[in-house]
Amino acid sequence: MLEDKNQSRTSLSELGEFKLIDHLTQHTVIHHKDTIKGIGDDCAVIGQGDIQTLVTTDLLVEGVHFDLSYMPLKHLGYKAVMVNLSDVCAMNGQAKQITVSIAVSNRFPLEALEELYAGIHLACNTYKVDLVGGDTTSSTKGLLISITAIGEVEKEKCAYRNGAGSNDLLVVSGDLGAAYLGLQVLEREKQVFQVNPNAEHELDKYTYLVERQLKPEARKDIVKLLADLEVQPTSMIDISDGLSSEILHLCKQSKTGCQLYEDKIPLDQQVISTCEEFNLDSTTIALSGGEDYELLFTVKQEDFPKIKANPNLSIIGHMTDEPDLIQLVTRGGQKIDIIAQGWNAMS
Ligand code: ADP
Ligand code: MG
Repeated sequence: MLEDKNQSRTSLSELGEFKLIDHLTQHTVIHHKDTIKGIGDDCAVIGQGDIQTLVTTDLLVEGVHFDLSYMPLKHLGYKAVMVNLSDVCAMNGQAKQITVSIAVSNRFPLEALEELYAGIHLACNTYKVDLVGGDTTSSTKGLLISITAIGEVEKEKCAYRNGAGSNDLLVVSGDLGAAYLGLQVLEREKQVFQVNPNAEHELDKYTYLVERQLKPEARKDIVKLLADLEVQPTSMIDISDGLSSEILHLCKQSKTGCQLYEDKIPLDQQVISTCEEFNLDSTTIALSGGEDYELLFTVKQEDFPKIKANPNLSIIGHMTDEPDLIQLVTRGGQKIDIIAQGWNAMS
C-alpha cells in the first residue's frame, strides 16, 4: 500500500483535520486564471466574469457523520443536501445544481434508498435546486453519501472568509447549540431503547433540538435578507464545527482579532432548559457544539442601523486589529481566549 515500507508513520489524529488538509494540499498548483479561489473557503470560486460559479462538496459516512438507528433515511437525504447548500449560502451565493454519489452495502434494500432520495428530492424542490448527476457504487460496509453543490454569485457580492476588517461587527443568524443538544437527546434515547425496547420515547420536550439535528435548513433566507437590506458582509462562513472554530477561521484568514460577548450569543429557550437538565454550560455548547448551519459574518459599523432590529440576526461581537487576541468576554467581564474545541473528523 505504502511505497516505502520503512518510512515513518504519522498518526492522522496527531495532525487533526485542518492540518491534514493543509499538509496534503500544500503543493497544489493553480493552472487556470479563472480559478479565483481554490482551497480554503466554504466554496471554490470560479470564473472571470461578473457572475462567478461556486463549487462545494461534502462526504457523509455512516457511523461517523450519521447513525441510522435514529436518523431516518429521508432526513439524512435532506440534511446531506443542506450541508452543501449552506456552504453556498456562506459565500453569499445561490445554489443551482447538485450531484449525488452514493456507496451502499447489500444491507440496504431498494426501499431504503427510495427514502433517502425522497429527502434529496424534497430538499431540491424546497430550495429550487436541480439534481444533475452523481455516481452509484457498492460499499463493503455501510452507506456513504457525497454531494457536490454548484451555485453562483455576483462578483462584488461574493463573501470570503478573509474580508473582515478591524471594528467590523460580528453577526450570527438564528440561534446556536440546538443541533448538538438534539444529538445528545437522540443518543440518550438510543441507549434507553437498547436497554428497554418497549420504553416510551420522551422527545416532546426536545422537539426543536431534535429538528435542528435531523432537519437543518440552509440559511438561503439570510442571503436574501442581506440583499434586501443592502448589506454586503465583509466576510462570511457557515457554522458547521461550532462558533469558536468558525470565529478562528474568520480571524486567521482576515488577520484580525475578535471580542465575542457571552451575553449576546443567541440561545433558544429549549437549549437553556436542556443545558440545565443535562448539567451543561450553554455557552460551551454554543461555542463547540456545531452542526447549527447558521451564517456567521461581519459587517461594517455603518451598517449597524440596517441590522440592529432584525429578529433573525444577533450582533455578538466585533473584530479588532489585534490578531493575537481572539477572546470571549464573559457575563462577568472576564476575557478568555477562544480555542477551537469544534468537531475533529480525525479523532
Ligand atoms: P467546510 O467545513 O466548509 O465543509 P472543510 O473544513 O471541509 O470545509 O474544508 C476546508 C477547505 O479544504 C475547503 O476549501 C475544502 O474544499 C478543502 N478540502 C477539504 N478536504 C480536501 C481534500 N482532501 N483535498 C483537497 N481539498 C480539500
Ligand atoms: Mg462551510
